[in-house]
Order: sequence, then structure tokens, then C-alpha cells
Amino acid sequence: MNSILQVNDLRVYFDTPRAIVKAVDGVTFDIKTGERFGLIGESGSGKSTIALAIMRLVRAPGRIESGEILLDGENLLTLSDQEMRRRRLNKVAMVTQGAMNSLNPVIRIRKQFADGLESHGVNLSNEEMGERLADLLARVGLKPNVANMYPHELSGGMKQRVCMAFAISLRPSLIIADEPTSALDVVVQRQVMQTLRQVQEDLGSAVILIGHDMGLMAQFASRVGVMYAGKMVEEGPVRQMFNRPEHPYTRLLMESLPSLEEKEALVGGKGSPPSAADRPRGCVFHPRCPYVMDHCIDVEPVYRQVHPNQFAACHLHDPEVVSKAVALSPVEEARK
Ligand code: SF4
Repeated sequence: MNSILQVNDLRVYFDTPRAIVKAVDGVTFDIKTGERFGLIGESGSGKSTIALAIMRLVRAPGRIESGEILLDGENLLTLSDQEMRRRRLNKVAMVTQGAMNSLNPVIRIRKQFADGLESHGVNLSNEEMGERLADLLARVGLKPNVANMYPHELSGGMKQRVCMAFAISLRPSLIIADEPTSALDVVVQRQVMQTLRQVQEDLGSAVILIGHDMGLMAQFASRVGVMYAGKMVEEGPVRQMFNRPEHPYTRLLMESLPSLEEKEALVGGKGSPPSAADRPRGCVFHPRCPYVMDHCIDVEPVYRQVHPNQFAACHLHDPEVVSKAVALSPVEEARK
């Protein structure tokens, strides 16, 4: 299957008075046409910054330092601002956690859609607009009368669906959903995720779902990428990765999931992610890793294939390193 998106060695930095913060530091991945890809990681791992970079919405003091973002073969980073504006919604659209707050509470949904489409060069007659809007609302499970309502008359879940309808209005080939359900209660979360899946299947668009909820990822995505401290540390088919995580950080994420069968105490990850302005050298995960070796402290691991379609950045997958390295367990050794 062809790739709709290829992100190559992407680096997004923020210039701060104290240091250059490397929010995304050399990330490479691709998304196939119509694929559901999950991007998972703790807060500050860089996953939302990747989304902003794809949309070309990184604002100062942030900047895209280097890399390539190829959408359908076209490098978005070389487009003019005007060309990029035309690609948004047409080719790539984003739904965020706060998307529903972007609706103007005192303007009817229909008018907001018409204004939005007009700003993308789509001018429809009243009748055409009515039909288009009814179709879009139906796709996200809303009745046509929602078009005549004000946002303040809608629940959070309904508003999020309206935003989803807007995101798909020009049938983009890629939809980025950045924690689209975090502000909603669990039942509504499930409904919104079902809607997103339905829309994805109807349109055949690829979706990048960004979040930290492993359960949600397992249900939605066919492939996942795990981010840690600005780097992609593991990537692979969702079932394969959940059954056999190969990076110690992914393993910790799995172990921290509650289980109905096992009644043992939950295992939490030791420590917390490093400050973005002061990342450890060598492997960025080494201060928290239960398998840390002397080699990990100075040398950054190569991102390599560890199983068919599964990749990880960890020295444990380099037999030569493992044969010579000295284990530094417990973890505290690594902090010396
Ligand atoms: Fe742990 Fe070393 Fe692998 Fe990093 S490279 S995850 S420190 S074993």
C-alpha cells in the first residue's frame, strides 16, 4: 500500500532564553493510505508538536529546524504559506481536544460552516450548502437540524462531532485527531471514537490518533508509534506490539495498564520524563530504564527493525553491544 504521509528526520526546536528545547528530535515514520495510526506517549513527548508541524502551525519561539514532511509526495515544508493554507482541510485536517471551543458560541453552525468553506474557496448556493451540511452532519451521527443551532445549545460530544464534520468537509486524505476525546466523559468518548472510525472507513482517509490512553489506541489503531522525550522509540502493528513490546519504555507503559484478571498492585514507571531543555545524552530513557547498561549512557541507540514491521531504538537489540556491555542495575547506577 502507498504511503500518504512520510515524515523524515523531523526536528522541531523551541528557542528559549535558557536553551534550545528539542521538542521533536529526529523522528521518522510513515502512514499508509487509509491507515489508522496511533501516536502515544507521556505529556511533553513531542507527539502534539509533530501534529502541529504536519499542519505547519508551529508558532514562535518554535521552528521546524529540519526534516521532510511529504503528504502524497509533496513536501509541505517547502510550500508557501498561501499554498499550505489551501492544503489544510483539502488534504490534511486536524481535530484537537479543544476543537469544540473554537466554535463561535453566538453564530449558528450553518453560518460557521459556510464561512469556513468560503475561506477555502468553496462557494455554495444556499440549497447546496444545506445538502452538504446535512450529509456531513449525518456522517458524524448528527441530525440536520443541528445546522440551525448555536454551539451553546450542543453538548460537548455533539460539538466535537460538529468539528469532526468540519474537518472532513473537503474529504482530506489525512485526519489528525489530537486527543479528541480527552475533555469528554467515558461514554461520550466511546461514541466520538466510533464516529471517527466510521468517518475514516467511509472516506478512506488515513488517521493519526494522538493520545496516552493505551486502551483507546488498541481499539482504534492498526499500528502505533511510541514517543519518548522527542524521539520515536518503538513502532509496529498494534497487536504485535501489545503482545511483545521490545522497548523497555513500551514495556513499562504496558505494565502500568490495569488488568481485570490480575489483582497484583499496579506497576508505575520509575521517575519522570526528562526536561525538554536538558535531555540525557546517550539513550534518552537511560535514567529510568531497568535494563540500563554502561553503553546506554553515552551512545544513542540506532532505530532498527526488531521483528517484521516492528522497530525499536534500544541497545538490547544489538547483540554486539549486549555481549560487551556492563549492566548497571539497579537504575540508580545510571544516574551517577
Ligand atoms: Fe534501556 Fe539501554 Fe535500551 Fe535505552 S538503550 S532503553 S537505556 S537498555
